[in-house]
Amino acid sequence: MTQEVQIDSKWREFAEARCADVDARLTPARWAVYTELVASARPLSAYELIALQESRQGRKIAPLTVYRHLDFLIRVGLVHKIESTHTYVSCGHPDHGHESQYLLCSNCGRADEVESETLERVLNEMADKHGFQTTKSVVEMTGLCVDCSTVEG
Ligand SMILES: [Zn+2]
Ligand SMILES: [Zn+2]
Repeated sequence: MTQEVQIDSKWREFAEARCADVDARLTPARWAVYTELVASARPLSAYELIALQESRQGRKIAPLTVYRHLDFLIRVGLVHKIESTHTYVSCGHPDHGHESQYLLCSNCGRADEVESETLERVLNEMADKHGFQTTKSVVEMTGLCVDCSTVEG
């Protein structure tokens, strides 16, 4: 028996719009992977995702198919990959294209997506100065989030 994850309907609209951009279909399998990430409070590894999907759908799932769905979701901008921890997180604002920066808590595992136009400009200027053509820019800061850094004595 399949249990569907309950998430806000705005995510469905985002997902359908991003798929329409590339003339792709939001298949049930893609949607299932996406909702798992939206519902999760922290980024998930591919294996955590597979395990969650398997228990939800009550059947074995080939890892390769999950990777394929993740690649698709990343390509259309619904999901970001956190390079330093090899995990995946749903984009907090998939209504516009953007580079993402992340604040990663090493204690609770939470990942906050932040957007800084200033930082993007600085990085672009730096690359330009070196005649460098950037294909991908990764900014991930590791440390303690506000909750974890304010632990009472
Ligand atoms: Zn994003
Ligand atoms: Zn934390």
